[in-house]
This record gives sequence, structure tokens and C-alpha cells, in this order.
Amino acid sequence: MDVAEKDQRLKMLEREVASLRLQLEDSKNLATIKEKVFKTSISGQETLYNELNKKLKDVRTKEYEILVLNALNMIVATANRYINIDEILQPTLDVVINSLRDLEKADGKEIKITGGIFLLNNETGKLNLSAVQGMTPDMLGCKGVVPIGECLCGISAMSGEIAHAPYCTSDPHHTCGPADVEEHSHICIPLKSGNNVCGVISLCLSPAGYQLRPSDTAIFTSIGSYLGLHIEKAGLYKKIQEQAIRDGLTRLFNRMEFQRLLQAEVERSARYNSEFTLLLLDIDHFKRLNDTYGHQAGDEALKALAGVLTKGIRLVDMVARYGGEEFVIILPQTSIEGALIIAERLRSRVAANTIKTDAGDISMTISIGLASFPVDEKTTDGLIKKADMALYSAKENGRNIICKF
Ligand code: GH3
Ligand code: MG
Ligand code: MG
Repeated sequence: MDVAEKDQRLKMLEREVASLRLQLEDSKNLATIKEKVFKTSISGQETLYNELNKKLKDVRTKEYEILVLNALNMIVATANRYINIDEILQPTLDVVINSLRDLEKADGKEIKITGGIFLLNNETGKLNLSAVQGMTPDMLGCKGVVPIGECLCGISAMSGEIAHAPYCTSDPHHTCGPADVEEHSHICIPLKSGNNVCGVISLCLSPAGYQLRPSDTAIFTSIGSYLGLHIEKAGLYKKIQEQAIRDGLTRLFNRMEFQRLLQAEVERSARYNSEFTLLLLDIDHFKRLNDTYGHQAGDEALKALAGVLTKGIRLVDMVARYGGEEFVIILPQTSIEGALIIAERLRSRVAANTIKTDAGDISMTISIGLASFPVDEKTTDGLIKKADMALYSAKENGRNIICKF
């Protein structure tokens, strides 16, 4: 190889080296770019993954919130279906327990829930078991009656707060449970209308170890507030209903309720082909009694008479204040002969009774008229008229006596 050739070859090699250097440089750059791209995509994926996770969590929370709202909705709708206190409790308790069980299931937990609703009797200061699911009152140590302040239910009723015990057998507050009970958790929710507690829902959960989530407290508080309000409303409704059918002084049925009861008895007796007797009673010389002892003592006498009449009849019999000092008694499935025996018992008891009043001891007598269905009359108006005619005879014949039509 000559010098010129060598020179050319060297130049070629130098070009190749330069090109290789360039390639090396490029490949280095590419690696950096690749690394950069890779790193960016990894962190991008991570961000995306985190975002997705957060969204999923949000969706799950929203789903659970919707389930909770549905559950609360169902509880409210069930309670709203009834207005009589005796009808509200059982279906409401059932829907509360079933809804809570479903919520736990939606959260991936299989939990057995039983329970009861206790209503507070303000006069006795005791909680009385009024509805149960999955247990009977004799399975409870308290047999269904818990004094306020005692055991978890009583504590919840007294404080107006949710009482929670994850492990009951070792909880010092769980004093009313049966001795041989399996380990379980308890949640007692006070039923409140404002600050006024009217009862407690007691829930028994197994397996034991149930912990309250913050959302649970909110749910239970909502249930307790709504049901408390609804139960109070039902109590007021019952009171108003009672007032509408009772006489304010004697607490006996009033005249309107008597008319309804008499109509029902006529229909019932006609359908079953049975008889019944109507008694119309009137206090003898009551005006004189009022004049002598005063109107207040007269009121006391009316109340005392209501007591004697109520005690002197059977549970199936119905006594009402017809007006002023007149009373009526319906004796179902009682012939005129049987009714005469009852009337005589009432007459003699009233005559023998001494009523102690501030104005002095009072004694009084009554006259009674009787009429029977269907022998004397088959209509309500007819029966009242005939009994009144018989009463008139009793008055005419000297008072303190009994006359049948
Ligand atoms: P008789 O033996 O004929 O039935 O005579 P009487 O005096 O009982 O009958 P009368 O109808 O003349 O009088 C009824 C009295 O009952 C008059 C009325 O003031 C009284 N009276 C009616 N309602 C009440 C009440 O709620 N309280 C009191 N204290 N008195 C009443
Ligand atoms: Mg009269
Ligand atoms: Mg009278």
C-alpha cells in the first residue's frame, strides 16, 4: 500500500470512527429518552392508578350512602304506614333489622342480628319489651322489663345516647342478659323525640366484636330520632282517640261511643242469633244531693258510681255515661233474667257504698230500667226508648228499684 492509499484509508477510518461516535451519542440520547419516556409513563400510570382507586372508593362510598338512604327510606315508609302504636312496632323492628343486615352484607360482612323494641313507661320508669325479632322475652335475663338506668338499654334510655358493647359477656354494664349466653355485641339506640326518650331499640349482633363506624352512629341516630318522633305521634293520636270516646269526668265511654257500641252489638247479635240486654241507670234525687253537698261532691259521687259499675260487670260488658247522672250498660249474650241478677247486684252495691268527700260522707241509690234484644226491640233507638220507659216505671214506683220493659 502506497502513501496515498494509506492516507485515504486513514481518512475513511476516521470518518467511520466519527460516525460511530455520532451513533454512540445518539444511542446514549435514545436511552435517556427511553428512560425519560419510561419514567414518565410509570409515574403517569401510578397517578392514573391512584385516581382510579380514589374514584372507585368514591363510587363505593356513594353506593353505600345510597343503600343507607334506601334503608332509612324503607324504615320511614314502613313506620308511616301505621298510626296505631300497637301496629307500628313489629313491622318497623323487622325492617330495621333486615335493613341493617343488608347494609352489613353490602360491606362484605355476614352478621346475625336479633333484637327488640322497648317502650318507656314514664309512670313506672321501666322499659317494656313491645316487639321482638329472633328471640323471645324469656330468653332475656330481664324477661322483657328493664328499669331505666339499668343494663345497656336502661343506660341508653337514661342518657339518650347510643350504648355499644362489642363484647357483652365481659361488659360490666350488661347486667340483664341471661347467664349462659354466647358472646355477642349489643347496640342500644334511644328512640327520641327532641330530648325526650320514649323507648330503645336493642340490637344483639353476632359474631361478637362489632365496632361502630362513624357512618353507623349517624344511621342509628337517624333511625332513633325518626322512630321516636313517630312513636310519640302515635301516642298522641291514641290519647286523642281515647279523649274522643271517653267522658272527661268518669273516664267511661261517652254517649257517642255508646251509640256506636250499641249499633255494633245489635248487628253482632242479629248475625249470631243471640240476645243481649241494655240497662239504663239514673241516680235518685241527684239534684238534692248536689244542693246538699255541692256540685264538686256531686262530681265525686259520679266518679265513685262509675267505679262501682265498672267493678260490678264482666270485661265483655260495656258501661257508658249517657249524660248528666244517667248511665247505660250493654250486657252481651245476656237474657233479661240474667241481666236482672246483675242489675240487682249493682243496685245493692251502690246503695251500700259510702262515698267520702270533703263535704262529708255521701250515700245514694239508683233506679234501673232494662230492655232486651231481640225480645223487646230490634233497633238501637227502640231499645233505648224501651229501657227509658222501664226506668220511668222504676222512678214512678218509688226509686232504688229495677224495672224491666
Ligand atoms: P230523679 O230521682 O227523678 O232522677 O231526680 P234527680 O234529681 O236525680 O233528677 P234531675 O233530672 O231533676 O236532676 C239531675 C241533676 O243532675 C241535675 C244536674 O245538675 C245534675 N248533674 C248533671 N250532670 C252533672 C255533673 O256532671 N255533675 C254534677 N255534680 N251534677 C250533675
Ligand atoms: Mg236524670
Ligand atoms: Mg236522677
